[in-house]
Amino acid sequence: MDENSQIKSRYSLSSAGAAGSLFLKEICNKPNSRVSGTTLFGLDISFLQQICEIITSQPQQSITPVNNHKRCFAELTSQSQKNKRISMAGKEIATQTLTILKKNKFTSSSEEIIASLETIVLKINGEIVELNFNSDNNTADFTRHLDSIIRSCDETLISRDSYRRLAKAVPNLIREHVVERRRNEITIETNTLVPIKLFNIHSVNFDDGNDDENQQDVSGIEFNDDDVDIIIPILTASMPPVLKVGDKISIRLSGDGRNVGRKQKHVMLTMCVLNEEEAVLSPAHQYSICLYLGKESYDSLSTVSAKFSHELEQLKTNGYKDSNNTIWPVELFFSGDWKFVALVLGINAATSNYFCLYCNCHKDERYNMDKVWLNSKNTRGRKNTMLFQEIDQNNWIIDELHLMLRISDVLFQCLFYELIKKKDFANDTQTLIIAEMKRLHIHFEFYPPATKNGKWEWTSLMGPDKEKILKDFQIKQLFDGRQATRGQDIEHLWREFYRLYKIMRQKSITDEEIDQFEADAKQWIRDFCRPTIGNLNDANQQEGMYLRTDITPYMHVFAQHVPQFMRYLKQKGMVLRHFSTSSIEKKNHQQVRLFFGGTTMGGGKSKNPVIHDILCYEN
Ligand SMILES: [Zn+2]
Repeated sequence: MDENSQIKSRYSLSSAGAAGSLFLKEICNKPNSRVSGTTLFGLDISFLQQICEIITSQPQQSITPVNNHKRCFAELTSQSQKNKRISMAGKEIATQTLTILKKNKFTSSSEEIIASLETIVLKINGEIVELNFNSDNNTADFTRHLDSIIRSCDETLISRDSYRRLAKAVPNLIREHVVERRRNEITIETNTLVPIKLFNIHSVNFDDGNDDENQQDVSGIEFNDDDVDIIIPILTASMPPVLKVGDKISIRLSGDGRNVGRKQKHVMLTMCVLNEEEAVLSPAHQYSICLYLGKESYDSLSTVSAKFSHELEQLKTNGYKDSNNTIWPVELFFSGDWKFVALVLGINAATSNYFCLYCNCHKDERYNMDKVWLNSKNTRGRKNTMLFQEIDQNNWIIDELHLMLRISDVLFQCLFYELIKKKDFANDTQTLIIAEMKRLHIHFEFYPPATKNGKWEWTSLMGPDKEKILKDFQIKQLFDGRQATRGQDIEHLWREFYRLYKIMRQKSITDEEIDQFEADAKQWIRDFCRPTIGNLNDANQQEGMYLRTDITPYMHVFAQHVPQFMRYLKQKGMVLRHFSTSSIEKKNHQQVRLFFGGTTMGGGKSKNPVIHDILCYEN
């Protein structure tokens, strides 16, 4: 540049040295200066070359000039503006990439481009943005991928918000809105397949006698009744098929109530297909058919029963007709804990004189193992009409879980109360018991009575811990030398009950094993209430075990009815363990944790009550 800011240039085509001479002579006006050595001319070759290449390779496409009317990205306030800008840039990158790919011969022999731009990750002001270019978002693969994301979110309780946050941090996660769109599609699909209906029932007076705290206990019932239509095709299609044409479908209904929070109760009816055998023991194979907030009460359950009555009757008499018009015969069963079954059967509470779910035994005869009580019907302790009459009397099967839970409660109570009466309980014995529990890896504590006439209490235990105690807890050491045999007798009682319980839960059983079980269970009851023989203070006196009145309804069922259930089921190719409510207990627990534990699914603020959400979630 000269003094007047005019650009002057000289060039030589012969050599760099000649150009240098020209430069000195004509521009710098130093004709006598000489250049020696190497002269370097800095030129932005790479930039020129780039421009050159773009122009030559795509003569038809012009480079988008920088648009000065555009606001800079940092000034954009709304997310939609930002998204628009990003997607515009993405589109340009995509078209230009095509050119680059073409130029670099990412082609087949017939000149077709075989490479494609899939994703670009931009970091804009620290925020990671991923641009996806693949157009096959609607392929089956992608849908399956989305479904698996939705499923894992549901199972691990990841809410919409959490997912959105996660997707922000991990750029190659699929965007939340894409997932949400698929979730809505699924919801619409399942709602047509398995409609969830809402209805309200308002029950007034209960004749339970113990319902003073909450008169109008049922706020609403949600239920879906087309589960069978969904489950059966799955079972026939599975490999190997659970159901083969010609099979009879055995459906077990169950019911259970559970406290959710301090005041609320939540009652659930579930069904499962017993043909699935061992699989029914998993909570995932229990399908909720009805759920309501409120107590287990005859009135509310009769409303529920009425809703199902027609359908159950249809299934029972006409079988189930699938989409291929194949008719599957159906047999219905029911199992649940004592309280629930007594309610549904319309029988008096377990404490009443005619207490039994299956016979007319009087409570004073519970201890008597010389009597035989056939599985039939309690006709003497009835206070309401039986509900779910579509289910045959013989198909109300006892639940082994609650039988074990309640009988072990009695065994623990009998022992602990006996020990508590002794002088050294508060000091020595208590410590010994806790140490023994610790050996079995069970957390256990005693709570002294709060009032003068109060009772000692202790940690309430779950099923698996109870089994451990029945199997391994050492009782002998809790009794001093003179009473050592008593400790041994009690220990034997516990072990024997545990052994018999395991037989109840066998995956298969022979007729001989059932006969032996019956004899042993009856002997166990006799041992349990063995009376004292001989006179008090007599050296030969043989101390009795427990009282006849300590024999509970579950113990009566254990010795009298369980063997008959075993035979009945065996002849149908079934076993008692599949009627356990353990899986329902687990399911109920899961649902309570999921929906009442503060987690909000679907972004919360649902118009529907929480039970509706539960059923939606299940589907
Ligand atoms: Zn009975």
